[in-house]
Amino acid sequence: MYYLIDYHIHTSISPDGKDSIIQVCESAINKGLKEIAITEHCEMHRKDWASQYYDLEKYKNQILEVRENFKGKIEIKAGLELGQPHRNLKESEELIGSFNYDYIIGSLHKMINNIDLGKLDLTTITLDNLCLEYLQQLDQMVVCGKFDCVGHLDLIKRYSTNYYKQRITLIKYYDFLVDILKKIIENGKGIEINTSGLRQAPKETMPGLDVIKLYKSLGGEIITIGSDSHNKSDVGKNIIDALKLCEEVGFKYITTFNNRKPYWKKIY
Ligand SMILES: [Zn+2]
Ligand SMILES: [Zn+2]
Repeated sequence: MYYLIDYHIHTSISPDGKDSIIQVCESAINKGLKEIAITEHCEMHRKDWASQYYDLEKYKNQILEVRENFKGKIEIKAGLELGQPHRNLKESEELIGSFNYDYIIGSLHKMINNIDLGKLDLTTITLDNLCLEYLQQLDQMVVCGKFDCVGHLDLIKRYSTNYYKQRITLIKYYDFLVDILKKIIENGKGIEINTSGLRQAPKETMPGLDVIKLYKSLGGEIITIGSDSHNKSDVGKNIIDALKLCEEVGFKYITTFNNRKPYWKKIY
């Protein structure tokens, strides 16, 4: 039996999440998941963002409540999806230190001008420049290291596959990508396999198989799986597909987190 985890889940605490944490946990239990991490958004590119939109007190209370309610049925990890942690390091550190988080995703949602990747005017930028700018930002984020795993490592393809009408992969920028993956590994960080790409335009995980293979070949061992669900029905979606990808690449274990420390679980 596969060891089913979902380490990237949003609930209604996130501005774009739809269902309550209780509905999300019930859905995960019904689907046979053993562990989930609730990873609400907190974008750090603006100093006031966290206090305005991230309700830490509400989050803390809800995590403690569902852990108690669903004790023995599922492990519920306290997670966080930090957007652009490198843009405000002090605030990122303060937030991380303000709760006993188990697991933190570092994600790059905004380009340097703070425009969301999903809102870029693609008519003004070539695909090469888009990828290179994204990689430069990713490089800066990886160096800052205020997280455990990089979220959806090649997110640009979620928003640009349809426009450029081709498969988009960062493997094309091989040396730059190798450099970034090495920094992730050397800093003791990992990557996630984000299955939302299978439900969206790219029709493949983020990152795709080629990048996962490269990560493994460079010695990467920390790898989590997440649906990036924003509603209860997407919880656990395509997790088995991602586990099969891991097996295909040669991973025998996936990584789970407790108190920000990695633990490895047999995939099957
Ligand atoms: Zn994200
Ligand atoms: Zn997310």
